[in-house]
This record gives sequence, structure tokens and C-alpha cells, in this order.
Amino acid sequence: MSSRPVFNRVALIGMGLIGSSIARAARAQKAARSIIATARSAATRRRVAELGLADHVEETNAAAVEGADLVIVAIPVGACGAVAAEIGPHLAPGAIVSDVGSVKGMVVRDMAPHVPPTAHFVPAHPVAGTEDSGPDAGFAELFVNRWCILTPPPETDSKAVARLASFWRLIGANVETMSPEHHDLVLGITSHLPHLIAYTIVGTADELSQVTRSEVLQFSAGGFRDFTRIAASDPTMWRDVFLANKEAVLEMLGRFNEDLSKLTRAIRRGDGDALFQQFSRTRAIRRGVVEIGQDAAGPDFGRPHPALPHAPLPRPYAAED
Ligand code: NAP
Repeated sequence: MSSRPVFNRVALIGMGLIGSSIARAARAQKAARSIIATARSAATRRRVAELGLADHVEETNAAAVEGADLVIVAIPVGACGAVAAEIGPHLAPGAIVSDVGSVKGMVVRDMAPHVPPTAHFVPAHPVAGTEDSGPDAGFAELFVNRWCILTPPPETDSKAVARLASFWRLIGANVETMSPEHHDLVLGITSHLPHLIAYTIVGTADELSQVTRSEVLQFSAGGFRDFTRIAASDPTMWRDVFLANKEAVLEMLGRFNEDLSKLTRAIRRGDGDALFQQFSRTRAIRRGVVEIGQDAAGPDFGRPHPALPHAPLPRPYAAED
């Protein structure tokens, strides 16, 4: 592609799952001439150097952003304000400053005041992830066919927004733009509430005394397994998400509790029609998610089953010729 690379020098602050995936993807797609990385701990900086994820690994955030035309802050949302204050005075004129935080309203509020008028602030959230953390967990394909939502303040230079959008498209993402408030409402229902439900249900099962822990694990393919994957997500990141998106999550939680009460009532009254109607509606939503390519249609949610240890089952289970 003739437009490559989109940036000359990309500085990544935070090299966990998301930061290290951006580094791998940007290198694979030649989206940056050079990649500078830094992380809070010496252990992570050392690991990033060992893995060869960046051209240079800097000790401090201030040193990392010197001369960078794109800076991406990829750390828990609660820490973004303090890091913005640290890097603000060191940003090159014309630099684009972005982030990857799962909540946008609070990040914009905390970071924007520290970005000097000579730089451009374009907040972003790649809606892609796994339950793993750290620099070893990242991979170059993480953003392929996933959405990256940009939430630039209205007065932001449109060329800076377009340039960041090109970067994300080059590393595989589809790009959408919306206000931070709208983002937080949408993600409140599509991501934050499902995580809260998963954290709750796994905790509830763990405390259930009639069912032993080993049975919960043994029969987890009955649905529980998929909740355990989500409930294994990083505790620091998710603590910050719920603290930062309090209003939207409480709003969604209120609606969820009302709907759960309706289903509870239907079960108590033996109202099969109500249950059937609700389950038919949600089945159609699942099919829509698969149709637009946001998940695999397989019963294993994209995870291949291990090879069956048995020969094919004997008749009468096999179809007659
Ligand atoms: P991660 O794998 O746990 O990595 C977090 C990185 O942030 C590490 O480099 C860590 O440094 C650094 N860090 C942690 N606390 C810090 C602090 N107080 N000050 C400075 N640096 C700090 O996390 P991640 O999954 O990449 O998440 C990073 C961001 O991406 C979060 O804002 C999250 O909301 C967003 N996000 C996550 C996902 C997902 O599914 N995981 C998806 C989309 C967006 P050390 O290693 O040195 O401790």
C-alpha cells in the first residue's frame, strides 16, 4: 500500500495485552517507521526488550514520547490522567496523543487538560481483547475485523482523526467515531454488564455448598465455561472500568434487574410462552452477531474441540445408508 507507514515514530506507554498487540501489528503491517515502548515496571520493560517488540525501550514515559508523532497510552483507565500530566510537556508539536481505554468519558476528562494545544488528542478504544494480560499475551491479529471506536472532542483537527483512523485500519480494525458519552452507554451494555454478570455467576457457583467445586468444573461445558473465560479478565483493568463508568453501568444494571425479575416471574408462574418469546428474541440476536462476522458460528465459539478419543459411535446412532 502506498500510504505506509502512517507514522514515523510511535510511542507506546504500557506494554500489556493491548500495547504489545499494537506493537506487533504495527510492525507486521509496517504502520510505523519506528516503535518506542515503555512500561511502569522494569520487569515488563525487560520482557519487551527480550521479545524484540520495539526498536527502543525507554525507562521513562517522558523519554518515550520525545519526537513521537503518535503516542498511545495503553494502561488501566484510572492511571491515564497521571501519565498524561507526565508526558504533556514532552510532546512534540503536531503529535497525536491517544489511548485504548475501555471507558472514554473519564479518560477524556482526565487526559485532555494535560495535552498542550500544539498536540492533538484523539481518544480510542479497540473493542478487542482476551482474558490474558502482559507483553507475552499480545498478538498481531488481535484487531483484525474488530472495531476501534474513536471519540475525538468536536474541535479536534479532522486530519489528525483521519490519520489515527488510517493507522487502526492498517492494523486490521474497522473504525467508528462517536461521542465519549455514547461510547460509555453502548459499551456499558455490550461489555461492562456482561463482565459484571460473569464475575457474579462464577462467584455464586464457587460459593454453592450443595454442588462441589469439582462438579462445577467437570460440567462447565453446560454454559458455565464461557462465563469463566470472561470472569478471568484482569482485575485491575475491570476494577477501573466499573469505577470509571459508574453511571452507565448502574443504568444498565437497573434495566437488567427489571428484565431478570420478569423472567423470574415467568418461571414462577410457569409462563412458558413468555420464556419462549424471550429466548427466540435472543437467539435472533446471536444469529445477527455471527452474520456480521463478530463471532464464529461453531458450537465451540471458535475453540476447536480436542480429537475424540473414541471411534465413531456404533449404530443406531449413525444414520442408515
Ligand atoms: P495489561 O495486559 O494488564 O497491561 C497493562 C499495562 O499497563 C502494563 O504495561 C502495566 O505495566 C501498565 N500499568 C498498569 N498500571 C499502571 C499504572 N498505574 N501506571 C502506569 N502503567 C500501568 O492490560 P491491557 O489488557 O493491555 O489493558 C490496557 C488498557 O486497554 C486498559 O485501559 C483497558 O481498559 C484497555 N482495553 C483492554 C482490553 C482487554 O480485553 N484486555 C480490550 C480493550 C481495551 P507493568 O506491566 O509494568 O505493570
